[in-house]
Amino acid sequence: MCGDCIKQRCPDRGSICLDTGAYLLNFQGCSECKVREPLVVRDRHEETEEDGEETVTYQHVCPNCMHVIAEHSYTFSVEDDFQEYQMFCMLCGRGADTVSVLPDDPRRQQPLF
Ligand SMILES: [Zn+2]
Ligand SMILES: [Zn+2]
Ligand SMILES: [Zn+2]
Repeated sequence: MCGDCIKQRCPDRGSICLDTGAYLLNFQGCSECKVREPLVVRDRHEETEEDGEETVTYQHVCPNCMHVIAEHSYTFSVEDDFQEYQMFCMLCGRGADTVSVLPDDPRRQQPLF
């Protein structure tokens, strides 16, 4: 990972958290071979810990010369009634989001038949 292939290192993405793909708008082009091709994902790992926290990590790699453009990490966890998402990547930037997971009250749902 060198950072020279990226326009803006680790931009602030607000609440955008991605566990797949790449933020290609921020990709300058491979500094090693000067090619600007859609990046490939390599070494994808998914881990789930006992407390339910999920971590996804992978590398953005130049498809032409296998130069590593950036390492991507994404975590998902549940805190009380909230789901928390976090993303950190030199290319895709950093993002964080929190979503309420309050269950629907089944008594208020009408049967469909
Ligand atoms: Zn590079
Ligand atoms: Zn390359
Ligand atoms: Zn990324």
